[in-house]
Amino acid sequence: MTTPPSPSPPGEGQVRTCVGCRVKAPRSALVRVVLVPQSPRAMVDERTDAPGRGAWLHADRACLDLADRRRAIPRALRSAGPVDTTAVTEWFSTRTPGQT
Ligand SMILES: [Zn+2]
Repeated sequence: MTTPPSPSPPGEGQVRTCVGCRVKAPRSALVRVVLVPQSPRAMVDERTDAPGRGAWLHADRACLDLADRRRAIPRALRSAGPVDTTAVTEWFSTRTPGQT
């Protein structure tokens, strides 16, 4: 791997764009979605270290819905066809913000 070092703003860490609302946020504020290997299914990569491409989303159902409507997840994951986001939807439904 010969990846040239890319300058990142000090103190900000790595910033990613939410594929739902298109707002930029630090990685720590977003959830990474990846494809399950050898399948058209997407899953939440909680450790954010799975190989391959990832789609970043706020842990917010509204962002998932937006991404779904725009087919942003298959696009971000460079999927050739539709992606089954059932597992991601389930993950989000257990993480609905505002609940204590
Ligand atoms: Zn968002």
